[in-house]
Amino acid sequence: MKQDRIIEISNKCITNTYNRYPLALVKGRGISVWDSEGREYLDFVSGIAANNLGHCHPQIAKAIKQQAGELIHVSNLYYTIPQMEMAKLLTKKSFADKVFFCNSGAEANEAAIKMARKYSRDHYGEDRFEIITMHQSFHGRTIATISATAQDKFQKGFEPLLSGFRYVPFNDLTAVEKAINGRTCAIMVEPIQGEGGVNIPDKDYLKGLREICFSKRLLLIFDEIQTAMGRTGKFFAYEHFDLSPDIMTMAKSLGGGVAIGAMLARDEVASSFIPGSHASTFGGNPLACAAGVATIKAIDKSILSHCKRTGDYFIRRLKKLKEKYSFIKDVRGIGLMIGMELSFPVRVITEECLKRGFLVNCTMDRVLRFLPPLTVKAKNIEKLINALDGIFKEIKGRNIISQL
Ligand SMILES: *Cc1c(COP(=O)(O)O)cnc(C)c1O
Repeated sequence: MKQDRIIEISNKCITNTYNRYPLALVKGRGISVWDSEGREYLDFVSGIAANNLGHCHPQIAKAIKQQAGELIHVSNLYYTIPQMEMAKLLTKKSFADKVFFCNSGAEANEAAIKMARKYSRDHYGEDRFEIITMHQSFHGRTIATISATAQDKFQKGFEPLLSGFRYVPFNDLTAVEKAINGRTCAIMVEPIQGEGGVNIPDKDYLKGLREICFSKRLLLIFDEIQTAMGRTGKFFAYEHFDLSPDIMTMAKSLGGGVAIGAMLARDEVASSFIPGSHASTFGGNPLACAAGVATIKAIDKSILSHCKRTGDYFIRRLKKLKEKYSFIKDVRGIGLMIGMELSFPVRVITEECLKRGFLVNCTMDRVLRFLPPLTVKAKNIEKLINALDGIFKEIKGRNIISQL
């Protein structure tokens, strides 16, 4: 089918919630995707960090095919082998003892919010339910999670929001201490903010939050929906900081591209969930868990060290570009979670990238976000750098920035 026709029919029948690029994708392999006209693109978005092993990774595709022929879904009224295997793997790899499965990031955070409230109520009584979250955070699009997300643009028009959240600036321990009162039950934070522009906290920030939570008996919740699954060069981002949270949420790459989310917690905290506390029809169904097990197993030590090495290389190359163009304000990243902040809206850049055969993401208006598969090769990075250099040169020459 012609690309224009696919786009036309889609626009007619699908809610207009995405500012989509005029591109209909039909096939993917590794870092490459193809549109319906047969044109190839190098994908530096990876489904927004949901395809950390690239497209159609053979082990993941095989696991899905196999499981689809055995058992797709039975509900959580019964035990299944893929769910057991996945929970065992996740608890073995992390600080956590227990896993609750759901289908998305927002749902994982919903579960975390419910667990924090329930735990606090069980241990400290009814009036302790507030959760502190950070400016520029992103926790999802349900009513509870937009209430947790301290950004106007996600909340506007959907009031009244859920009560029980207090917002403070990211990377500011004093502000957190000031915001704590008798009602506070938890602090919720992304170890590295993704949607908010790839913001990396100071070295002691997360440690400071950990100490505050210990001393005030608050739960520390890490939203690792974007940062886990090897994205930062460690399996979980918290491993960079020599500490662990009480509750952690995952989704995005957890199923290698298949929808699945998870909320993980220490035993003592998880025990506040009892039969009836929470549930999900599809959460952790055999098909999604088979994909998840294959994905987790495939992210091995060599993938992690490759991610770190190529991430460092990518950042170095982007910083070289920054020396050449004054409108590049900042380059920051860890592993293959990388942001480049410009002095003007970057949509014009992502559109130019698309014309040249590269998928690149834009966030917070002025930040180019790069989330390639963890298996990306240096030669792919080199191609993108050359394309960006060409685009930047043209922009500098035409001086179109002044018009933006
Ligand atoms: C993507 C994301 C979410 C929301 O996940 P959905 O699966 O879209 O609901 C929440 N938190 C973070 C940090 C994310 O990156």
